Amino acid sequence: MQTTQVQRVRTRFAPSPTGYLHVGGLRTALYNYLFAKKMNGDFIVRIEDTDQARKVEGADKNLLKTLETTGIVPDESFLHGGNFGPYVQSERLDIYRKYCQQLLDQQQAYYCFSTAGELEENRKLQMKQGLQPKYNRKWLPENMGGSMPESEIKKKLDEGDPYVVRMRVPDYISIMFDDLVRGPVEFDSATVDDQVLMKSDGFPTYHFASVIDDHLMEITHVIRGEEWLSSMPKHLLLYEFFGWEPPKTAHLPLLLNPDRSKLSKRQGDVAVEDFFRKGYSPEAILNFVALLGWNEGEGSEREVYDLKDLVKTFSLERVGKAGAVFNIDKLGWLEKQYIKERPLEAIIETIRPVLEAELEKSPTEMDVDRIQGDDYLGKVIELMRERVDFEHEVVTFSTYFFFDPVEYEEKAVAKRWKEDTNGILLEFIHLLEATDDFSAENLEALLKDFVGPKGKKPAFLIHPLRILTSGVGFGPSLYHMLEVFGKETVLRRLKKGVEKVQAPGSDQGDTGSARIVIRD
Ligand code: GLU
Repeated sequence: MQTTQVQRVRTRFAPSPTGYLHVGGLRTALYNYLFAKKMNGDFIVRIEDTDQARKVEGADKNLLKTLETTGIVPDESFLHGGNFGPYVQSERLDIYRKYCQQLLDQQQAYYCFSTAGELEENRKLQMKQGLQPKYNRKWLPENMGGSMPESEIKKKLDEGDPYVVRMRVPDYISIMFDDLVRGPVEFDSATVDDQVLMKSDGFPTYHFASVIDDHLMEITHVIRGEEWLSSMPKHLLLYEFFGWEPPKTAHLPLLLNPDRSKLSKRQGDVAVEDFFRKGYSPEAILNFVALLGWNEGEGSEREVYDLKDLVKTFSLERVGKAGAVFNIDKLGWLEKQYIKERPLEAIIETIRPVLEAELEKSPTEMDVDRIQGDDYLGKVIELMRERVDFEHEVVTFSTYFFFDPVEYEEKAVAKRWKEDTNGILLEFIHLLEATDDFSAENLEALLKDFVGPKGKKPAFLIHPLRILTSGVGFGPSLYHMLEVFGKETVLRRLKKGVEKVQAPGSDQGDTGSARIVIRD
């Protein structure tokens, strides 16, 4: 009886540890993760540090940490272990050396002793002639179709001259493949350079190491940015030289600025860590990058997905070819959707350290234990979650929940204060002093019953009360806000405020427009 074994899907994210994680890198990692998980396969992180000059200390761990913060946890990596390690290319040099020797023995690779100066001269000459710069094959041996005698090569090797090893690209062939995103693609081998495989420092190039590792790590699907599409002919030739089956590939669309130029690489604009620092949450960022080039299908209006939903709905067939525009407003919109839905405990966890830092900077007249408690923070969050762009703004934007106002918004005072405002406020303060029920409902009833007989609308007091207790002329429902502040705070602030804020022209000799009079 014959059985067909279905190959286990294995994908990899292969960052170079040169600094921060770019949002494009996060998208690549995410799509690899989603595809692997959807197929019940493995997702691997491999560190590609063959360019030792660009390597940044600690960047490898940071990349993994950033990924994990968004929920993308690898099955295998240098931190998670696995049966296909080492997962860092600089620890695999013996492996690359062995395979390089194999290609030299098979006459599919050759030593090249051309100096940097020679290469540059050659490049300039070809450019002048209107040709695409390529290695001129000076060191291609006679027995491989070149003109360099074996003896010359041997001599150089014996003398210990520095060299690189280049692949011998076959002449006049077409290299064709089917990309899962781009469809059929074809390259002419005449356009392919004799790529360096091993550099003079004994390290492999990206192309060589990545092909060997993808094979040895049994990667079935290579999902990466479109900028790597042009490397495909070199990679496919290497698979051919070794007699290995190449993995399937999916090249993801470029990320574009809204003006359709290529997305900047400047850190601060595109580093995932910087988005965290600005206050965007991992969920919103993950959701945002998922939509950069993928959608669920025609007619689907859905935009909010968590990682679990994405694993269920993602498919490579729905990844588009057209460049994906990076629209930061969309990220802001998503962030707001998440803040609306996020459990209180999660928001409390984020804002408590922000509050602690603020309290350290300036003392408060409020009861510190109370305002740091879950109960108080929970109430503040419920009032503010619809009004903030970032979670931390629950503290930094609505500081009045934690600190007494130190000034009053001038424009708001000008607009809301009348000659009789302070007198009526004082009366209302007495009324508040006499009540112990500071629930929003009771405060509302109290205020309405109080202003009615005076021939005033509730707004006559609502605005001044808001300004004196919060310092600003806008915010959540006044009654609910006062309920959260509590009686003690409300009375303290009102008594102090009514002393400080005057109606326009009520100060001696002042007949001008409204202003704040501070009498400390
Ligand atoms: N190390 C390459 C990079 O930095 C990986 C390219 C690939 O996925 O093959 O993007």
